[in-house]
Amino acid sequence: MAEMDDLYQEVILDHNRQPRNFGPLGDANRSAEGHNPLCGDTIVLYLRVEDDVVTDVSFEGGGCAIATASASLMTEVLRGKSVAQARALFEGMMDMLTGDPTHAAEVAEDLGKLAVFSGVREYPMRVKCATLVWHTLQAALEDLRQPVSTEQQG
Ligand code: ZN
Repeated sequence: MAEMDDLYQEVILDHNRQPRNFGPLGDANRSAEGHNPLCGDTIVLYLRVEDDVVTDVSFEGGGCAIATASASLMTEVLRGKSVAQARALFEGMMDMLTGDPTHAAEVAEDLGKLAVFSGVREYPMRVKCATLVWHTLQAALEDLRQPVSTEQQG
């Protein structure tokens, strides 16, 4: 698995060096800001949501390589997804990073390119770096739909 880890690390470093969809989003209709004080990561997420579909997404800020790469990869994956699919991806990320280790690999498989973060679960201090942008996404989506959701707790 060492080769796989190298590949994953290469993807993370690449997204950190050249973050995708970085910058403000002129026609955003949702946004949220997220902080990870443990590491000093700050992400501002912008979404354009139309008819329950994320039609555009960008982010500003960043932090460590994992936080920046996680935001960058999320913006790539999210475009064109429904709000329900976006929430399912959040669940999948949380499951892969903090859930039962016996099915983490299986979950990772369903997450496609987001699986590059699967190794982060070995480093509990870094898990929040990877999940920060996803919590920020939840905050942005909750604005949009229901006033409060108690089904996710950070
Ligand atoms: Zn971090």
